Amino acid sequence: MSGPRDWSPEEAPRRGVVRRILPVALVFAAVVGGVLYLGGDLRDLLGTEPGSARSAVAAARVYEESGPLGGRCAGLPEDLEADAAATLNALARCLDRMWAAALEPAGVDYESPGEVRLVGTPEEAACGTGDLDWAGIYCGEGRVVNVLVEDGPERREVFPMMFTLAHEYAHHVQTLVGISGRDGSEVFDEAWSRRLELQADCLAAAALRDVRPYLLNDLRRAVADGEETGATEEAASALRASHGSPRNGARWMLRGQKTGAVGDCNTWKAPEREVS
Ligand SMILES: [Zn+2]
Repeated sequence: MSGPRDWSPEEAPRRGVVRRILPVALVFAAVVGGVLYLGGDLRDLLGTEPGSARSAVAAARVYEESGPLGGRCAGLPEDLEADAAATLNALARCLDRMWAAALEPAGVDYESPGEVRLVGTPEEAACGTGDLDWAGIYCGEGRVVNVLVEDGPERREVFPMMFTLAHEYAHHVQTLVGISGRDGSEVFDEAWSRRLELQADCLAAAALRDVRPYLLNDLRRAVADGEETGATEEAASALRASHGSPRNGARWMLRGQKTGAVGDCNTWKAPEREVS
């Protein structure tokens, strides 16, 4: 099984796997309650038995050793809406600094994305050009972060675009630390995709927690309410399959927002109901 998603692997890019990240449906979360120590049977049930791809991802050292994400973004314009590109470019520089600082204690030598490309239409992106229904996409090949910035009166608010940028940055980090791009039959199924996407939402919320807390709260509530922008039922269903339910999205956002800890965004250890 394969699901539409907003990242494309470094090699063997697959066509048609990119889908829209709806402005407010970018997130997901789960009721992460005390599943830190799973019993053997449950561990098997969850697919985290030693040696599995998920087990390796769940045990990545970044969860234990990274510093917290967060902090203000000093270079951000006072008026976020005045010039969306200037706002997003300023945020990208902050995300680079945040991630470099957070990953340094874990021994990860952070590298910025190869390019942050703000595009007016999906055709201008480095990948995913065959799917015109996304708001952001990370291209593993060339490590390009793409965010759709629409101009004109229909333009959406800037903060959801900022969240999209932080979400795609999280996919970049997942690539850097070896969480994405793994081999194995389980890697490309829908369940894998949901863990990857919910984690990216959690990490995005962690990174933005001190940047504009009230806007992040608003966005999280909108996600929890399942607000979507003109999506068909079919599109909403596909989004849920690959990115998780709105409710879980909001829950994972809240986890990241609360502590900023990378370890609190370990969706790979969560039971299925928290990543559905
Ligand atoms: Zn994503």
